[in-house]
Amino acid sequence: MARAVKLRLAGERCVGHGRCYELGPDVFGEDERGRCRLLREHVPAELQEQARLGAANCPERAIEIESD
Ligand code: SF4
Repeated sequence: MARAVKLRLAGERCVGHGRCYELGPDVFGEDERGRCRLLREHVPAELQEQARLGAANCPERAIEIESD
């Protein structure tokens, strides 16, 4: 079974492109200014593709994925 991964958001880098929450709507959300907020810090196996897509497509490299 795949292990959960942990997300870290460098909020100071986020400028609100919204790619993360468009590609991973079950993992990433937006605040009132259109910037990313994590809907969950620990991501179960079934949502890790969304987490990876969001992180890989953030132009600011604001999202990091760590193993639990
Ligand atoms: S893609 Fe990156 S810069 Fe854009 S909202 Fe998400 S975390 Fe912020």
